[in-house]
Amino acid sequence: MAKIDYAYSLEIGEAIDAIQAQELYFDKILKDKRNFMCCDSNCGAKITCANMDKSYGEMKRIPHFKCIEDHSEQCQEVAPLKKGRKQSKQSDSEEQEITKQIMFGIERPENHYEKKSNVILGDKEKKDSDINGNGETNSNRKSNIFLVDSLVQYFIRGNTEKTLKSTKVIIKLGKKRNAYVYSLQSFFKEISSADIKKIKINNVYVYYGKARVKQNGQDGYIIEFADNFYDNDKKVVCYLKKEIIEECKLQRNTKENKVRNYLNSEINCYLLGNVVMGEKRIFINLKSLDHIAFSEKELESY
Ligand SMILES: [Zn+2]
Repeated sequence: MAKIDYAYSLEIGEAIDAIQAQELYFDKILKDKRNFMCCDSNCGAKITCANMDKSYGEMKRIPHFKCIEDHSEQCQEVAPLKKGRKQSKQSDSEEQEITKQIMFGIERPENHYEKKSNVILGDKEKKDSDINGNGETNSNRKSNIFLVDSLVQYFIRGNTEKTLKSTKVIIKLGKKRNAYVYSLQSFFKEISSADIKKIKINNVYVYYGKARVKQNGQDGYIIEFADNFYDNDKKVVCYLKKEIIEECKLQRNTKENKVRNYLNSEINCYLLGNVVMGEKRIFINLKSLDHIAFSEKELESY
């Protein structure tokens, strides 16, 4: 059966991918993994988002859509996929082809998702007007995410599918400020192998490596990376301050617990931030609880 990249969520009235669905479940915006259907309004086959309700960190299997009914004969969601596969075999040389676009928002918009939660379950008319109105197809859809956990899932998937270079990450810095485009590969910097002299340290990237989480004072944490940057002898650390934790508006306790879970143990840690060079240490500046992710799984080198 054809792979389904995007499905229509009956809970928010929007076509989303499975990794975005997991993020929305984590933020308690989506509630039921069975509330999806095929994006083609003339098809509407029922879809389930497998593993949407699995917690981050374990990462045994990345969430994915499963169609539990046959698509209609004319379904446009399945048809272009079949064609696309045949064509891609003939054009192996076109490496620069963009396979996926991910929009990562550094800041969440005000009243995030408040309006959309009013969509009534199973409202077929609403679905038709939404889909016909914006004319989205699989090739120009973007996934909108705010959690580094989701970026890590795309990174793992991109590594398996060999699409790290062709997956584009668009980083939206603020409401009216610029957006920056990276490949997924260039946006992730493994601390042990990255040369800090070659990194634009004022830009934000996802830095990752083995780290230990420690309590820092009563309400803060310090994350100490096991490795230094390539050919550099300064320790790499990140202070997760009380103010940053308190600024988190969506599921603050759940997100702080994610950090507390790994207190005093060594874990693979991913931080989105910029770097500040100290005299004895290198600091990764974190702006939000959304910008930290952990993975228990040993990740192979990319
Ligand atoms: Zn369909």
